[in-house]
Amino acid sequence: MKNRQSISSGAARNHHAGCGTRCSVFLALLGLLVALAACAPVEESRSTFALGTVCTVSLFENGTNDLYTALFDRLAAIETVMSANELADGRISELSRVNQNAGIRPVAVSGELITVLSRALFFAEITGGAFNPAVGPLVAVWNIGAENARLPEEHEIAAALALVNHRDVVVDAANQTVYLKREGMRLDLGGIAKGYAADELVTILKEADVRRAVIDLGGNIYAHGSKTPTQKWRIGIQNPLSPRGEYLAVEEAADKTLVTSGVYERFFEENGICYHHILDPKTGYPADSGLLSVTVIAENSLDADALSTALFVLGYEQGSSLLSRFPGPGIEAVFVFSDATVKRASTVPAEQ
Ligand code: AMP
Ligand code: MG
Repeated sequence: MKNRQSISSGAARNHHAGCGTRCSVFLALLGLLVALAACAPVEESRSTFALGTVCTVSLFENGTNDLYTALFDRLAAIETVMSANELADGRISELSRVNQNAGIRPVAVSGELITVLSRALFFAEITGGAFNPAVGPLVAVWNIGAENARLPEEHEIAAALALVNHRDVVVDAANQTVYLKREGMRLDLGGIAKGYAADELVTILKEADVRRAVIDLGGNIYAHGSKTPTQKWRIGIQNPLSPRGEYLAVEEAADKTLVTSGVYERFFEENGICYHHILDPKTGYPADSGLLSVTVIAENSLDADALSTALFVLGYEQGSSLLSRFPGPGIEAVFVFSDATVKRASTVPAEQ
């Protein structure tokens, strides 16, 4: 400590002679930089890699570069809570801490993890476990999306299936803890976290008085406001059999989210069979419901995200029946079948 003090005071002495001039040059430069930053043209859009995907925000009104920064800081904060993987800086997320303590002890978590997990468990209940935030052990054996993805052995799938009961997840909202009852259990919020994140970004946009913006979190889209006072946004639904950017349908949307769960998002092929990332917690294999994608159009992105994954697993018959019973009007789903034909379903008949 003594040593360090003497070094710094020595440095101060050495610089003393020219400090006045240098300081003012430094301050002038700093002022210039700040002024330049303030005048920097507002970006048309900004992208980053977060929540396991490329996230892009485009602000079309009242946007500032500081607002972009605030939005992406929020995404980074959500990632530190909900990521199922190791974080870029080597820290571990709240969710991973819960997973590491499976079968050992309840873990204190943030209110937002309680909120999202509780909603995920609600969807697990109403879908008979088709949507299941405890799907982690299965996700781990398939590892789809990673380089070493491979067809697991039957016994590995059976072992994982024994650990995916969502009723073994204990959320204690009063004490703000989460406990996984059995060792080896693992939460995975990959099917719902992007929806939550999109809703959170929309809240920030409203506070900042931005009325026109598009959020795209890896295909999980929020069309905030409308394109012009008289025109809605036009959002394409990807044709799963065509290259990216070729659409099956174009939806008009204002203050709506469009969330797609599709086989083409993450998959690998082995012996001519496509194994994709949306797993059926009943069979342990990628859901085989005759669908290539499901897009859910709604106001709430958290619900739309959970529903798109759930409807994909359930398939059209069960999925449309669930939707017809789902509380909350105005939610629509676009089911795309293996031959790229399309059927629609909704909570209440869509207005004409
Ligand atoms: P999405 O793209 O929203 O349909 O979510 C797919 C992601 O959710 C996967 O990459 C897994 O991380 C996770 N997942 C896979 N199968 C399920 C399931 N049946 N229920 C909930 N999450 C799942
Ligand atoms: Mg989803």
